[in-house]
Amino acid sequence: PDVAPVLSVNNIEVIYDRVILVLKGVSLTVPEGGIVALLGANGAGKTTTLKAISNLLGAERGDVTKGAIIFKGERVEALSPNELVRRGCIQVMEGRHCFGHLTIEENLLTGAYTRRDGGGAIRQDLEMVYSYFPRLRERRSSLAGYTSGGEQQMCAIGRALMSRPTMILLDEPSMGLAPQLVEEIFEIVKQLNVNEGVSFLLAEQNTNMALKYAKYGYILENGRVVLDGEASALRENEDVKEFYLGVG
Ligand code: ATP
Repeated sequence: PDVAPVLSVNNIEVIYDRVILVLKGVSLTVPEGGIVALLGANGAGKTTTLKAISNLLGAERGDVTKGAIIFKGERVEALSPNELVRRGCIQVMEGRHCFGHLTIEENLLTGAYTRRDGGGAIRQDLEMVYSYFPRLRERRSSLAGYTSGGEQQMCAIGRALMSRPTMILLDEPSMGLAPQLVEEIFEIVKQLNVNEGVSFLLAEQNTNMALKYAKYGYILENGRVVLDGEASALRENEDVKEFYLGVG
């Protein structure tokens, strides 16, 4: 029996600046409690897909999004990014985006801005974040701008957790990090998935690592899904091996 999807993206198209067709009808599904990888080379359209879901594209600049996005059974294309966060879907942007002049703890607390519950619950969630990321606890009083790339990535994920999400859209967490640190972060993603029930849509160029942690994957090329399947099947696929896993 199939698990109900928490997120369905149906045939979305994105046009940048009114003319540049970048997504040419992308469809994908994330089952409740799933980790799904969105794979593809630089420029394939991974970030654009995540931003289309979060409604972070610039309509005012002439970016157009078509198609349907359904989160927890409801159409969400017209919602503001904040409203989507309130409903439980949050994006962690590529490049980590911590506030460099705030401490790690202050950064984490900014993640609770959409919440309407009080200080006690927020304090508790801060503890929850520190329990998954002990390094953040150690660095809680450091200015984020002076912490390492790995710590900033952890801080970005931790901040997202402070909104109590059911789903995180995680854009390229491995970017610029040493393999061991990437593994450490992916292990924590897995624990969050198992223990907290958070679903993940994980955009990654690091196919090898992503397919180790995701259960299912979609491969984007030039704005289209060219292949999708169980992670185990993708790992064995000859084209995936040759073009994405670097073993011909
Ligand atoms: P990356 O790993 O670099 O994030 P990606 O797979 O996420 O790659 P996107 O960033 O979604 O790819 O980019 C898809 C295509 O859209 C690329 O050709 C890119 O040049 C183009 N593009 C991205 N942002 C804009 C924009 N604001 N205006 C016009 N074109 C854009």
